[in-house]
Amino acid sequence: MSDLVLVLNSGSSSIKYQLLHADTAEVLASGLVEKIGETQGGRITHECGDRELVHDGPIPDHRAGLRQAFEMFRETGLDLTTVGVGAVGHRVVHGGEVFWEPTLITDDVVRTIRELSVLAPLHNPANVIGIESTRELLPGIPQVAVFDTGFFHSLPEAARTYAIDAKVAAAHGIRKYGFHGTSHQYVSEKAAEFLGRPSSELNQIVFHLGNGASASAIAGGVAIDTTMGLTPLEGLVMGTRPGDLDPGIMPHLIHVAGLDLKQVEQLLNRDSGIKGLSGVNDFRELQQLIDGGDAAAELAYDVYIHRLRRYLGAYLVELGAVDDIVFTAGVGENSAAVRADALAGLSGFGIEIDPARNETRAPGVRRISPDGARVAVLVVPTNEELAIARAANDLVTAS
Ligand code: AMP
Repeated sequence: MSDLVLVLNSGSSSIKYQLLHADTAEVLASGLVEKIGETQGGRITHECGDRELVHDGPIPDHRAGLRQAFEMFRETGLDLTTVGVGAVGHRVVHGGEVFWEPTLITDDVVRTIRELSVLAPLHNPANVIGIESTRELLPGIPQVAVFDTGFFHSLPEAARTYAIDAKVAAAHGIRKYGFHGTSHQYVSEKAAEFLGRPSSELNQIVFHLGNGASASAIAGGVAIDTTMGLTPLEGLVMGTRPGDLDPGIMPHLIHVAGLDLKQVEQLLNRDSGIKGLSGVNDFRELQQLIDGGDAAAELAYDVYIHRLRRYLGAYLVELGAVDDIVFTAGVGENSAAVRADALAGLSGFGIEIDPARNETRAPGVRRISPDGARVAVLVVPTNEELAIARAANDLVTAS
């Protein structure tokens, strides 16, 4: 049985892909299909070893994009139909209350993922198109859906329930689901491995700080709380999303500011967060603005850190005691300033950072707390593709 897995992450106008060995984590090729369905700017960037191929031109739909990407695989000597792909793993954003384990894709599974689009209208339809196109192009290769909500299936009722009319909530599936689950699970397990202790013995707090951002509290390997909710809008301040808001702001925007629903959705998904406050959503650009003395950028940073610390406090109390705090994703792995400011002044809780370790860049998992500190603070690079590949490979091997 081949451990070679093609992993796909299909968005509304893009597809990220990687071909890798689940056992060794060796990546044979990876790429990005961009601006699908747009009249201009269509591009596929394909990397294979030290070769990079670029295809520029309109990409009418996902199927055409994948077909072209597969052609680029062939050009670099990897024909996906013959190279021995054992499984295709798809990142699927929302599994609702139906799916939480990695699931072998059948017609019924595709239908249900499509039905769950009411819970993730921006994401699940694109995931379905990616799945359908791949099933057509690679018939006979087992396909597996790995759900971004899956790891948070375990949230206790008190943590996952919104205090609104229970009948309305039940009728419309309104509850906290959580997202980035594959990453939270992967880095928490990596952290346990690094500490040489089983996850079942650890209380952990994970900060996944990328363009999207979320935190989780994990007790004994089981998630007990997370910041994202019914949708990926709740919780931490993100690149373009606000995180927590007074729900009364929504009717205020409609009735007082005169926005329509489409404009509110645009505001919340694309024009809020760091970008809404500072004009830029990339953390490196934010840092440059701050270095130049930009007051709006400084405020955006302060709001971002304030929200992180609020959830850190909440999760410390929920867990009672914490063994390790993990930072991951673009900002979490790279911004020493964010890590230092998020945890400043908490030595009374056993939380300390060694400034030299924090500033030193190094690949792989690393400890940034001083030796002997009560709480281990770790930087753990996330690898959602590898986690999806392993989940898909395990399922296909077992079935
Ligand atoms: P991700 O969604 O995990 O790819 O993370 C994207 C975010 O990580 C963007 O806001 C980037 O600006 C940020 N990022 C990437 N590299 C760095 C860096 N060296 N320092 C600070 N932020 C970074």
